[in-house]
Amino acid sequence: MSTDSQTLPVIDLDRCDGCGKCVLACPAKALSVAGAKVKVVHTNCEYCGECEAACPTGAIACPYDIVLG
Ligand code: SF4
Ligand code: SF4
Repeated sequence: MSTDSQTLPVIDLDRCDGCGKCVLACPAKALSVAGAKVKVVHTNCEYCGECEAACPTGAIACPYDIVLG
């Protein structure tokens, strides 16, 4: 299987108000806020789902299951 692509959280920028709660919640420091909108820093993301749980507006989601093997 290719390892070139990486599954990342899906962000709905219309819902994001740039509060930064997901940035603080992310254990991998994979998120940042720029221009009052959140941004995923691809290479760090572990797809743990903490950002989805932390976002008060439902702007960030991890909709895919990870299947190993
Ligand atoms: S899924 Fe986890 S590692 Fe990835 S951006 Fe969200 S909190 Fe960070
Ligand atoms: S927690 Fe939600 S609203 Fe706040 S910066 Fe992150 S994605 Fe945007």
